[in-house]
Amino acid sequence: MEREALIARIEAGMSAGTVPCQDCLVTWFGEGRGHRCVVCEEPITSPDTEVECDLPGGGTVYFHNACFDLWHAALPA
Ligand SMILES: [Zn+2]
Repeated sequence: MEREALIARIEAGMSAGTVPCQDCLVTWFGEGRGHRCVVCEEPITSPDTEVECDLPGGGTVYFHNACFDLWHAALPA
């Protein structure tokens, strides 16, 4: 997916509440194991890097590494 499309999905998802608006409490980077990315909704499979994110409000979401970087840059300061 193109960078601009991903950023649009992140912004729309934050408004809709489907994408977190708060930074992770804990993150782990590892090999993709097929979890669905919260940003692009595609499965994260090896050799892609999976970012596992525990949210401050509870719950765990997963990102592609590239989706995570865009999401992290879009978080409110
Ligand atoms: Zn993704």
